[in-house]
Amino acid sequence: MNNIYKNIYKEIRKYDTIVIARHIGADPDAIGCQLALKELILNNFPHKKVYAIGTYASKFKFIGSLDKLEDNINLNTCLLICLDTPDIKRIDGADPKDFEYVIKIDHHPIVDKFGDIELIDDNASSTCQLILELVYNTKFKITPSIAKKLYIGISSDTDRFLHPYTTVKTFKLVTRMLSETKIDFTSLYKPLYTRPLVEARFQGYIYEHFEVTEHGVGFIKIDDSLIKEYKVDTSTAGSLINSLKYIDGVLIIIFLTEDKKANLIKANIRSEGPIINEIAAIYGGGGHKYASGAKLTSWDQADNLIKDLDILASKYLESEK
Ligand code: AMP
Repeated sequence: MNNIYKNIYKEIRKYDTIVIARHIGADPDAIGCQLALKELILNNFPHKKVYAIGTYASKFKFIGSLDKLEDNINLNTCLLICLDTPDIKRIDGADPKDFEYVIKIDHHPIVDKFGDIELIDDNASSTCQLILELVYNTKFKITPSIAKKLYIGISSDTDRFLHPYTTVKTFKLVTRMLSETKIDFTSLYKPLYTRPLVEARFQGYIYEHFEVTEHGVGFIKIDDSLIKEYKVDTSTAGSLINSLKYIDGVLIIIFLTEDKKANLIKANIRSEGPIINEIAAIYGGGGHKYASGAKLTSWDQADNLIKDLDILASKYLESEK
């Protein structure tokens, strides 16, 4: 048994109360891995108390329900397992320093070190994939219910095995999981991808109106009035970014979505080649090499981000000649 997996299992076995956290702005990978890990732990250790915490997202309730931490819990005797979150500021609902011991499992490039054990692989397709690796390297056991959660996370984070972090290892692990549990995996796509008509109409607006810079940066500015007109929410608007993949001549895509309540502009950024997370970091954000994000304070700042990404795209095009 690989040491890091073995050590994670050993620590989990030690603690009676375990809190499983993930990043703000939940997505199916983050919620899927939280709920899958909770079930894995409870199946092997039914007497432990395990809480999967974080802001409720009604969109993902088909994956399972989250827990509220009871007020009387003495966190400094508990284990925190933080999933899918590279930086302390983006952990939803927990502060690592309140806990006796912290395990971090993540597939983002390292930002903050805050775990006593850190299982980090930024070449893994998803955190659900890392949980599957944990299963197959320890005494945890896969079940159909757990497999469904992990499959939802892996297929969603890879956009149905489309993104470059989808590897032979991903397919091997998923094939093993599907063969062993025999889940009806294609039926999982319906709850994951069914969306309201307004969202489809809004996608039409985006296709019509996105602009492209000289060096292939496709961008769209989605202000509050547009969001109200189409009756979509800000996170839904941003999540449509993947629909602009594979357009000839578009190297980088940026969605700039105004969040009036939070008084900021959320930037979602994707790349077909240039490494974008370093530019995102300059704007206080971060993420993966080809999928990043940031929170901006003004439309001027948004314009500067577009300019910086255009320069990056132009250098990339030069280097490819
Ligand atoms: P998104 O476009 O929101 O799906 O985010 C893409 C990637 O960028 C995710 O892996 C996030 O972890 C990362 N990311 C998004 N927003 C931020 C932010 N404000 N700060 C740091 N990383 C971010």
